[in-house]
Amino acid sequence: MSDAVTKTLCPYCGVGCGLEVVAGAKVRGDRAHPSSLGMVCVKGATVLEALDKDRLLYPLYRASLDQPFARISWDAALDLIVERIRQVLHTTGPDGLCLYGSGQWQTEDYYVAQKLVKGCLGTNNFDTNSRLCMSSAVAAYTASFGSDGPPCCYADLEHTDCAFLIGTNTAECHPIVFNRLRQHHKKHSHVKLVVVDPRRTATAAVADLHLAIRPGSDIYLLHGIAHLLIAWDVIDHRFIAQHTTGFAPYQQIVKKYHPQLVADACGIDPAALVQAAQWWAESQAVLSLWSMGINQSREGTAKAQSLINLHLLTGQIGKPGAGPFSLTGQPNAMGGRETGGLAHLLPGYRWVTNPDHRREVETHWQLPPGSISPQPGRTAWQIIEGLETGAVQMLWIAATNPAVSLPHLERVKAALARSPFTVYQDCYFPTETSAYAHLLLPCAQWGEKTGTMTNSERRVTLCQAFRAPPGEAKADWEIFAEVGRRLGFAQQFAFHTSAEVFAEFAALTQGRPCDLSGMSHERLARLGPLQWPCPAGCTDAAARQDKRLYTDHRFLTPDGRAHFGLADALGVAEVPDDEYPLVLTTGRLYGHWHTQTRTGRIPKIQQMHPQPFVEIHPSDAERWGITDGALITVTSRRGTVQLPAKVTPDIAPGTLFTPMHWGALWHPSAAANALTHPAACPTSQQPELKACAVRIAAATPPPAAKTPERPPSDPAPATGPTRESRQEPPL
Ligand code: SF4
Repeated sequence: MSDAVTKTLCPYCGVGCGLEVVAGAKVRGDRAHPSSLGMVCVKGATVLEALDKDRLLYPLYRASLDQPFARISWDAALDLIVERIRQVLHTTGPDGLCLYGSGQWQTEDYYVAQKLVKGCLGTNNFDTNSRLCMSSAVAAYTASFGSDGPPCCYADLEHTDCAFLIGTNTAECHPIVFNRLRQHHKKHSHVKLVVVDPRRTATAAVADLHLAIRPGSDIYLLHGIAHLLIAWDVIDHRFIAQHTTGFAPYQQIVKKYHPQLVADACGIDPAALVQAAQWWAESQAVLSLWSMGINQSREGTAKAQSLINLHLLTGQIGKPGAGPFSLTGQPNAMGGRETGGLAHLLPGYRWVTNPDHRREVETHWQLPPGSISPQPGRTAWQIIEGLETGAVQMLWIAATNPAVSLPHLERVKAALARSPFTVYQDCYFPTETSAYAHLLLPCAQWGEKTGTMTNSERRVTLCQAFRAPPGEAKADWEIFAEVGRRLGFAQQFAFHTSAEVFAEFAALTQGRPCDLSGMSHERLARLGPLQWPCPAGCTDAAARQDKRLYTDHRFLTPDGRAHFGLADALGVAEVPDDEYPLVLTTGRLYGHWHTQTRTGRIPKIQQMHPQPFVEIHPSDAERWGITDGALITVTSRRGTVQLPAKVTPDIAPGTLFTPMHWGALWHPSAAANALTHPAACPTSQQPELKACAVRIAAATPPPAAKTPERPPSDPAPATGPTRESRQEPPL
């Protein structure tokens, strides 16, 4: 083993902290990384500990879900895939094929998968778990500015006078971004921190103003602030006149949002609304941050646009410390956006519905005109619906765990069980989703393959390998490329290294908003992480600079102006009623990542968060006769879970909160998505995972300890460490 220091990126959240791995055995923050400046949270600090736990080492196959898996060769596994693809193309056509990928992928994985599915197989049925994460932000930026792309950079955290955080528990979910912001806040007494969240989170606890609004009332609040800014005439008339369209109809909409109406809808004091608007008006630079609390909503795009509207109203964009900043959940959700990793996108911030974009990509890929379908493909939920109807005949899932992360889990599991042929490629085994696979493919993970990732501030980092993949695991891009070659596309997949893949992708971004054509693996290794835009030919000094978008206030819409979003508030899709009188909201904890596939196998994190829980306000606990720690049943129209109650004033009356990390592998009855519904934003198709109507009852008697759900035939891992490393969380 080399004792060299390997520079890489943390593979968890979208903050994208730089890491250094010493001798392949110790991890520390990379002080030279401009995004994180050497800081790292508990997830990044412990990431090495899961590398050798429960790894899937060889391809495994079974003809049906009631049979045990058996080891097969890669050659046989790839033949099975190619044979099934040909069969589905012949019988059902391209719409029968679906790939569901992941923001955990490196950019190179995304790109080769795109080329295979959208280019060579002729279907846009390629969606990723980013659909559940930030597709509303993509849609909102595009509608408001003419293109996706967060306009801010992390340096803005240290330039702002007023940070307005809505729908983001930044302290727990994006800890190093919050660390930077909090240090600035503590150092400068004039800097205001406003947090909008139904819970008194760790983020809200240190805010100057916490607006504990009702779930789903965000647009009331945002339009209420706009109403006051216009009424006080503290808006930027010059910016509005010269750089925006849609102000007049927007003004008509927000006229209705009087402070008392807003306060009643949000469940807050009108004085708190006035205070938030005053700080927005008085500050030289307002930076808003948002995340899943805005995006995961049936009006997610409208919410994000309503927030962007406030920046347009006050000219708070394109200058240091200001702008609407969406924080991405996953480490390479941004790389997914750049490579076209959603069912309506193509690489380079292009659209499948745009004939010029299709032609440009087909030419680059040396494919005949018409190879790329003009129809947007199936989104994550539409894949489930396709399985239900039989339209989807082959599902390929990679690096994600939909049997925990999608809403309405019973319906999802039933649909997955109907799939005629499911390929599942992942690093770990078992996961909840492996129960529904016919063919398992072992993948190289973080540290075992070299590639790039882009973080929330558009900064691309080269993540270097420092160890070989275990067993027969391969990089995802290598698997997709080999399938492409076996299907007859040798020329399209003649890659030998991930550097070659990146070079081809970067060239395709030339002249696009996300221009990375001035980047290469070699240059990223030499200069360190770089932000885009980074056009070909830019000097090293220019490449290294911090970059904000829209500093000239020219936007990427056809008229060059930013567009006000014109939406009224709708509220949540499932309104509480007599039968289901409470609203359940879901979220994340500091230590865990998503469905625990990695963090569940790290003892320190299991000890930090030993069991799931449901937060309930003392007044609701009293009404239902629930005491702190008692087991309660939470029921929605779709399912039931049983969880220990955490009675706390930190949650608003009428609202419950439970973390989303516990799937069936880690607890017998705690999956938050057993309760959630699939109603989604009509523009972004992002499901409303943040709010559903539920009822509660004391659970008697407590459920007997159960063996976590496993497929009847799931064996222990073929080789390597078994699940001894996993601790059963006590009830
Ligand atoms: Fe990793 Fe995010 Fe923690 Fe940084 S803040 S170390 S990227 S999990």
